[in-house]
Amino acid sequence: MKPDNESNSELPPSFETMCAHYGEDPAQHHGAVIPPIYQNSLFTFPDCATRELAYDGVDEELYSYTRLTNPTTDIVEAKIAALEGGEKARCFASGMAAVTAAILSCVKAGDHVICPQTVYGPTHSFLAGYLKKFNITCTFVDGCRIQDFEQALRPETSLIFLETPSSSIFKQQDMEAVSSLAKQNKISTICDNSWASPYFQRPLQFGIDLVVHSATKYLGGHSDIMAGVVIGDAKRMRRLTFQEGCLIGGILDPFASWLLLRGLRTLPIRMDRHQTNGMRIATALSDHPKVAKVFFPGLPDDPQADLTAKQLRGTSSLLSIQLKSSSKESTYKFIDSLKYFGIGCSWGGFESLAQPVLVPAQHIDISQNDPVWITRLHIGLENADDLWNDLQQALDKV
Ligand SMILES: *Cc1c(COP(=O)(O)O)cnc(C)c1O
Repeated sequence: MKPDNESNSELPPSFETMCAHYGEDPAQHHGAVIPPIYQNSLFTFPDCATRELAYDGVDEELYSYTRLTNPTTDIVEAKIAALEGGEKARCFASGMAAVTAAILSCVKAGDHVICPQTVYGPTHSFLAGYLKKFNITCTFVDGCRIQDFEQALRPETSLIFLETPSSSIFKQQDMEAVSSLAKQNKISTICDNSWASPYFQRPLQFGIDLVVHSATKYLGGHSDIMAGVVIGDAKRMRRLTFQEGCLIGGILDPFASWLLLRGLRTLPIRMDRHQTNGMRIATALSDHPKVAKVFFPGLPDDPQADLTAKQLRGTSSLLSIQLKSSSKESTYKFIDSLKYFGIGCSWGGFESLAQPVLVPAQHIDISQNDPVWITRLHIGLENADDLWNDLQQALDKV
C-alpha cells in the first residue's frame, strides 16, 4: 500500500497542495484524513512464497520490517521527495544520521572531500575527524567563489559537500557552478538545505545529487522531534536505503514520521510567517546604532545578494548579529536580557531562540586573528512587534 503515485500525478504540482495531499490516500485508511501510525517493527505474510517476494524486493508493495520500509514513513518520504523535486527520499532518526549516511554513500577509503569551512559543526567534525579512520581527507574552503573548489580538486576527490546558506553566518555557494564542476570531474555533490527548506530553495534543480535536511528544524517545525532526510534520484537512493539506511540503521521511528507529516502540512504558511518576521527583524537590527553587522541573506546589501536572487525564492528566519561592543560580556548581557527568546541551540520551531556563537575570524573575512562573538537569533512565529520591542530593550542594556 505505497502512496499511489498515479492518482498523485493528477494533483497540481503546487507546493502548498503537495504539502496537504501528496502521497496520501484516505481511502486506504477508512477515509481517515490523517493516516494511522503503523507503530510496529515487523509485518507478517500469508505464506512463504509471499515472504520470498517481499525479501527479494520483487514486490515493493509488500512490507517486511520497519528498518526497511514502513507505511507511515513511506507517506512522509513520498511527500518530501516531491517537495524537493526528487525521485526518492529516505528519513533518518536525526539530521546527523541523514548527513552521515549521505556522505558515506559517496565515499570510499582514500577519497578526498571538499567542503565550505562554515559548515555545521558536527558535519565538520565528521568530515575532518571521523573519516580519518578510513583515510578520507577533507579540504575546507571559503566556498564563496568557484575557484575555491577548483583549486582544492584532487584526483581522489569524490565528494563536494555544500551547506548554503550556512547556519551561523549564512555564507552561500553557487550550486549551479559547483555541480557543473563536479559533474565534469565525476564528483558527487550533497547540499544541506536545512536553512531554506524546499519552500525557498531546491538544490536538485541546480544539479546537486543529494539534498539533506535536519528535519528537526523547519520541516518538523514544532521542536518536538529529531529527524533527518536525504533526497535524490531513485538509483542513488536505492543504494543508500539498503546500505547506509539498513546497515547502519538510523531510520526514523513511525511516530516521529507521523509528527513530521503533521509539521509538513503547515510548512508553507509557517515559512511565509518566518520570512516576514525574519526580514522585519533583520532590517530593523541593521539600522540599530548598537549593531555592527547583521548576517542575513535577505538583506539587499548582503555581499552575496546575487546568489540570493539566483538560488533562493525567499528567506527564512535564522540570522546572526555582531554587536558594536562585541565582547563576550556584552553579548551574554544582551542575550540574558531577552524575554521572549529562549536561550538554546536548534531553530526552525515556532519559538524564538538566541544563543552566543564564537566564530573564527577568517569565517567573517576580517583582518584580525581573534575569534568574534556573535548572537544567533531564530525568529519564531510570535508577533513581530513583541519580538522587536524585546530586542530593543535588550540592546538598551548593553
Ligand atoms: C541541526 C543541524 C543539523 C543536524 O541535525 P540534527 O537533527 O540535530 O541531527 C545538520 N545541519 C544543519 C545545518 C543543522 O542546523
